[in-house]
Amino acid sequence: MTAQDLKDRLLRPLRRELATGAEDKVVAGGLEKLIENLGQPFPKVREALAGYRELSTAERIERLNRAIGLLDGAPPPPHPTPTRGEGVKIFPTFPAQPVSPDPQHPAPDTPDITFDTPVEALPLGPGGKKKLNELGIRAVRDLLHYYPRRYEDRRTLQSVRESEEGQKATVFGKVLSRELVRTPKRGIQLVQVRLMDAWGWKFTAVWFNQPWVLKQIPEGASIIVSGKVQRRGPNISIMVEYFEDEAGEQLSTGRIVPVYPSKEGVGQAFLRRAAWRGLEAFGQIPDMLEPYRRGPGVKGQGSAALTLDSRLPTLDFALRQAHFPDSEEALEQALHRLKFDEFLLLELKVMLQSGNSALVGRTFRVTPEMIAKFRSVLPFALTGAQERVLNEVLTDMQAERQMARLIQGDVGSGKTAVAAAALYVASRNDAQGAMMAPTEILAKQHFANLTKYLFPLGINVDLLVGSMSASEKRAVYDRLKATQTHVVVGTHALIQDNVEFRDLGLAVIDEEHRFGVMQRRALLASRPDLIIMSATPIPRSLALTMYGDLEVSQIDELPPGRIPVKTKVLTHKLRSQAYAFARQEILKGNQVFVVTPMIEESEAEGMNELAAATKLRDELETILPDVRIDLLHGKMPAAEKDDVMERFKMGKFDLLVSTTVIEVGVDIPQATLMVIENAERFGLAQLHQLRGRVGRGGLEAYCILIAGESSKKTLSRLKIIEESNDGFYIAEKDLELRGPGELRGLRQSGMPDLRIGDLASDQEVIERTREFAKAILGADPYLDAPHNALLKRELQARAEAIGFREVI
Ligand code: ADP
Ligand code: MG
Repeated sequence: MTAQDLKDRLLRPLRRELATGAEDKVVAGGLEKLIENLGQPFPKVREALAGYRELSTAERIERLNRAIGLLDGAPPPPHPTPTRGEGVKIFPTFPAQPVSPDPQHPAPDTPDITFDTPVEALPLGPGGKKKLNELGIRAVRDLLHYYPRRYEDRRTLQSVRESEEGQKATVFGKVLSRELVRTPKRGIQLVQVRLMDAWGWKFTAVWFNQPWVLKQIPEGASIIVSGKVQRRGPNISIMVEYFEDEAGEQLSTGRIVPVYPSKEGVGQAFLRRAAWRGLEAFGQIPDMLEPYRRGPGVKGQGSAALTLDSRLPTLDFALRQAHFPDSEEALEQALHRLKFDEFLLLELKVMLQSGNSALVGRTFRVTPEMIAKFRSVLPFALTGAQERVLNEVLTDMQAERQMARLIQGDVGSGKTAVAAAALYVASRNDAQGAMMAPTEILAKQHFANLTKYLFPLGINVDLLVGSMSASEKRAVYDRLKATQTHVVVGTHALIQDNVEFRDLGLAVIDEEHRFGVMQRRALLASRPDLIIMSATPIPRSLALTMYGDLEVSQIDELPPGRIPVKTKVLTHKLRSQAYAFARQEILKGNQVFVVTPMIEESEAEGMNELAAATKLRDELETILPDVRIDLLHGKMPAAEKDDVMERFKMGKFDLLVSTTVIEVGVDIPQATLMVIENAERFGLAQLHQLRGRVGRGGLEAYCILIAGESSKKTLSRLKIIEESNDGFYIAEKDLELRGPGELRGLRQSGMPDLRIGDLASDQEVIERTREFAKAILGADPYLDAPHNALLKRELQARAEAIGFREVI
């Protein structure tokens, strides 16, 4: 080791110590220990730092500067170079981290690097471009926004001396020698590398059966090894599980180190260097939100809505800290800013897009007389929530713009009634209407309801489902073409080639997530106004963000007189009580649902699902010998399922055992009890939907949740269902507890693809960015103002990666 090497070894920790406030925390065991070890050849340095531990902070700083000056030859700057940008002002407590740029690669003189510059403009070394491209990184922008997957805290690198037998350790060392040996007995190949740590202690790193490692570790290289420690007297070995090439730059040691998502062949050290080069290329990273921080030049300046929260860090701070954090706090702030940006771009995209879908649709005429007439045939008064939603729908229908509205509400909240009113208005405007449902049984039920509402008003309603005979279908096609049919209700059968509307003006889709893009498009080809109905409650801001192109209406109130389903959680031990109660209900002439979740294996393999449900059926037949029981499961052909539901509805049997396939919204008026086995396997929103299937006939109804395991966590989760009947409240809780991907119905529907943001836990940021996006677009609807140029560019470049579920 040369004198210069030794100096470098000393300089790094000293600089770091200075940069982190001279707290004597940089070196394990204290700075003096380091000096004892490595400071031998530099008596003056040892003198300068003698008694360091006992010194005051001011004295320490003075001594450190002196020692660094001695080693470096040049006096260091009075203060460590701060992180560039304003971040430091906002977070004055964050110590800055001076990373000395690699002397072999001086900071490139690249005044014209922008976000759009291809990465090959950066000094990445041979093959660098290719490696980055493999990860989808093409422009500098992509590189800067290629965030670490996680971080490792390597601020205080251990000396190998302090590692303990049998424990895991991560140690940095310089390669002294290396060899490949074969164990005499079993012939295992061992790569043994002799290393020296920063304190001068020697140890051996060992790889089993990975001879190729030898080539990756040249003598003189600096590497970091991580693995189990073996101590035999003075000999210390590390059984390497993971190692990294430190490559001469201080990007992988002595700091909180980023770990990037990667692929084979693209190493962490390379990615760190690349990120570093990207950051280094900017004096100050341009910030699209800067105009909203300062005010001048921004229209609407002074308006609170258009001024950023001053605690939000600059992009410069955020990106530098996200890659190379100085501290946990700085990292947290940085990620917050990046998350804010991510949601802001998403919201802007959503808003601009739905604004642009000022696609012309139908303009309907709505008169008070029409609405009065519709009301006159309704056997009930609309609830306040229905009134509000109907108004929203009618306003949309009268506008020139194509209506695209999501109506959310619990099963039985009266969505269909509202849709019926809209279909009536469409018919009165000489347009046709269609309602598409995912299954025949639901289509038939909608058909029955719509006929009830609309027939008295002189509207002809038809049904079109796959199980109808060819001639029955043909008759419907003919009537549709001739406009004898005003409203048609059906399944996928509605989008077969033979179906021709004379003039489709309004389409209603029930549970749209059950349809594919092409199916929706087929129905919407002639650009009718559109209503989507969903019984999956999602918090409003989430719905708005998820379905960027839909307006959202919520029916958050049940019709009066609805008796809430009495719900009870039972532990598995008390399971038989549930079935004793079921017998009582059945003796009263009522019907019972028993639902069992598809167990995991069964999801992969239909037979097991069938087996599980069949087993439960057999068991119940033993427990309840006098009860008529039938079975419904996911592997049945659709027609058979419909047949079972039909017979249940008609009272042909008393108890239905089912996997979760029973449709939301199927009315079985005599069903008064729902028993859910292994209830903990369902999401809360799903449990709430399941229980919505009983108590549809005005009878007192019950739901028993059997907890298959009775941990505190499970029971308190199920308690939420026991205690609340509010679908939106339950959905919010569910979201908090499980995350959005798990919500029933959402799993299939594809969530926006966010890198940092999380739709479940970031409600507050979503709301804030939504308001902010609105304010921005309120002042500059197409982002044409000069101060929004950068924002617009970033939106164009980055929003592509941020998707939302497009319905129309
Ligand atoms: P959803 O489509 O939301 O499941 P529906 O529109 O099918 O709800 O209504 C469920 C049941 O409640 C139907 O039997 C309907 O007749 C009845 N209903 C709807 N609105 C009201 C209301 N305002 N008052 C009383 N009953 C209502
Ligand atoms: Mg319904």
